[in-house]
Amino acid sequence: MMRNLRILCLFVACSLGFSSALAQTKSGSHSTRKPPSMSAEAKALVEEAIGVACTHAKLDPQSSLAIDEMQARPSLPVHSPEARAGAERAQRLLPLAKTLVAKSLRQLATDYGLHKSPRFTVKMNQAIGRINAVRRVRPDMESRDNASVFLSRPRVITFGTLFLAGLRSDEGMISVLAHELMHIADGDNDSLRSLVAAVGNKASDLTGLDVHGQRGEEITCDLVGAMAARAYVAGTPGYESIARRLARSIQHNCVEIDEGDEDHLSPRNTIRALLALNPALVRELINNREEQR
Ligand SMILES: [Zn+2]
Repeated sequence: MMRNLRILCLFVACSLGFSSALAQTKSGSHSTRKPPSMSAEAKALVEEAIGVACTHAKLDPQSSLAIDEMQARPSLPVHSPEARAGAERAQRLLPLAKTLVAKSLRQLATDYGLHKSPRFTVKMNQAIGRINAVRRVRPDMESRDNASVFLSRPRVITFGTLFLAGLRSDEGMISVLAHELMHIADGDNDSLRSLVAAVGNKASDLTGLDVHGQRGEEITCDLVGAMAARAYVAGTPGYESIARRLARSIQHNCVEIDEGDEDHLSPRNTIRALLALNPALVRELINNREEQR
């Protein structure tokens, strides 16, 4: 069935087929946008935090490469040292990422007032069961800078080798693993759709961007990714600055070529929406910025 063939992709490359159609509709879409409900001050803080994350991208030897930079590189064989190191990192962090995603999902359910619904609680428990069933990261050269889940094989996360190599830190890797685990949690029946819709609506409302439908799911996955990475940073104190470590969970979006598609906001709008939804992350990025070096 088509449904079973559905592929959930993290990044734009798998939807490039849409880009020419999108280019035609983009100019008309501005008229449907609503003004953002976020205050000018909050918006300025979000932009400042983006600046911090993307500055660290240039200074930090373990920063995550931007997606457009990954896209520009030649495909990387599965057995290259960088791809192998990335695959080992991903497989090692998978159990921890599963735990952090389950916690983040429960937190989000509380934040969005869904935790008291018995129906949602049943769905949440099933979603966490699907997360717990995930066993393996499969490195794939053809997937290049994408990670995806084939819902016909929900125990495996397929990870492009360029992407495995481009996420050079545990924080970056946890954020992307968590993104994919959130797709698995939602499953092929969109069981967490009430949460996804609530997050998408809030993101649309705050930013004035269109974050409905599949874009709502993608931003929820990104939010879960950032929350999981933030919990990891909080739980593993080290010598590096907190801002530098947090930046790694979002800076793959620090692109020069900023293109979205029907299913995804553009990478820079993704960070915008993500930070608008997560003011605590904004504060931590900004408050630690003096530690940049
Ligand atoms: Zn995705």
